Amino acid sequence: MATIARVSVTATGRVVEIPTGLFINNEFVPSVDNQDLIDVYNPATEEKICSVVGASAADVDRAVKAARDAFNTTWGKNVSGFERARLINKLADLIDRDKDELAEIETLNNGKPFKIARDFDIGDTISCLRYYAGWADKIAGQTLEVDKNKWAYTKHEPIGVCGQIIPWNYPINMWSWKVAPALAVGCTIVMKPSEITPLTAQLLSKLIVEAGFPPGVINHVCSVGNVGGAAISAHMGIDKVAFTGSTVTGRKIMESAARSNLKKVTLELGGKSPHLVFESADLEEAAKWVCLGILYNSGQDCSAGSRLYVQDTIHDKFVSLLVQRAKELVIGDGFDEKSGGGPVVSKMQYDKIWSYIESGKADGATVVCGGQKRTSKGYYVDPTIFTNTREDMKIVKDEIFGPVLVVGKFKTEEEAIKLANDTSYGLGAGLHSNDAGQCLRVSNALESGTVWVNQYNLLTNNVPFGGKKQSGIGRELGSYAIEEYTSVKGVHWNYGEKLAWPL
Ligand code: NAD
Repeated sequence: MATIARVSVTATGRVVEIPTGLFINNEFVPSVDNQDLIDVYNPATEEKICSVVGASAADVDRAVKAARDAFNTTWGKNVSGFERARLINKLADLIDRDKDELAEIETLNNGKPFKIARDFDIGDTISCLRYYAGWADKIAGQTLEVDKNKWAYTKHEPIGVCGQIIPWNYPINMWSWKVAPALAVGCTIVMKPSEITPLTAQLLSKLIVEAGFPPGVINHVCSVGNVGGAAISAHMGIDKVAFTGSTVTGRKIMESAARSNLKKVTLELGGKSPHLVFESADLEEAAKWVCLGILYNSGQDCSAGSRLYVQDTIHDKFVSLLVQRAKELVIGDGFDEKSGGGPVVSKMQYDKIWSYIESGKADGATVVCGGQKRTSKGYYVDPTIFTNTREDMKIVKDEIFGPVLVVGKFKTEEEAIKLANDTSYGLGAGLHSNDAGQCLRVSNALESGTVWVNQYNLLTNNVPFGGKKQSGIGRELGSYAIEEYTSVKGVHWNYGEKLAWPL
């Protein structure tokens, strides 16, 4: 079945037509062999929104062929950087034009507040596309002197067909982080959105056609992970796979890439990121940043600052400030203007978060904020803060991916660093201090891909993002993402040396 779902957004009265088919070669098509549709839900009401077609391995194969044909004919090395930039900018214009509609569907499907979806997720998507449109005509290699009769140069060529597998926490934003640098350098794409939040990608497909991209440059194959995602990871015709999601899945993707064609792999995985507050910090400001760090997107953020360590001299005062700030955040329906946070994305995520909250209570940690289930409909989890935690508790060790913060204490800078780094993850870390020397020492010592000093969770398109340890491989954003999507060729050129033969 490849049809149109007419989705009513009750809060605004808008009816949005969403194509339900797979998007291959600029057309919406049914699956060649999979009759199972994927049901998509609204986490605020627990009601079904619509169903979309789920891709099989054979459908992924079709999408790879389309992407390969486009790479060899209308995209790849066959189109100038200027033209790629024009098309990427055009896509950004169309997303800007449709941002209200896109944000409404993002809110309906993911639960996040409409204003945040429009101004942050989609606002950032537009600027990410424009940032990489700027790169498209600036992909350059080096010229290298070899000796008086020889020189060499390097070419940064598009790596080829890219499989991209994205999660449900920032559906449109993660789409742009993957698609924009790949398009800028000339790669073609087989994208698998999360089966939990596929709807904005379905709408973006229409805009890809309207922008004028040649068929096959970007293909969308919504599918469950162990079918479509597994098929992408194992595909012999895919040159690179880029993934954002859990560490467990990242490991499977890497294994599968290794077993198949040794495709290049970049992984942006989970975290249990530490947030440190030293006694010299501006405590009022730090309390707001700590709240943002764990409560933004209902804590469903790979770099969420989920482990807070506070210097013992200010611990009690800081916790009381933090609880006040956390209670000020309104968690409610994403279409309610007052909401600063929405429900979590799914029943599965809701159950997972609550099982962690229950384990924290059972392990003897103290709940100082939240920790009580609501009785109304919707997958809501209010901000929950635990104190009196021990380092061996599950709530301190595991990524919860919800609005759950654990608070510990430290006496010295050395102890703070040791606690912060005592994790298998290394994605983000934050610190608050008014001592510049301390900021520098601690940020140097933290084992993470990103460190925020006197702020948290803010990213910009020109600064790389990615993890150390088990939080990932490779970098997104900035010039670093361009490198991840290019393959460097060294060309050696002889313009005068005669080979002395025999050797
Ligand atoms: P996940 O890793 O299973 O899913 C992310 C993406 O990977 C989805 O598109 C999914 O369909 C796909 N996928 C799943 N299995 C696959 C496989 N075998 N091969 C290839 N692709 C596959 O994450 P989830 O189940 O949606 O969430 C589970 C946990 O993962 C969360 O509770 C959270 O801890 C973590 N998570 C992290 C991020 C992040 O940004 N780092 C995002 C989402 C979830």
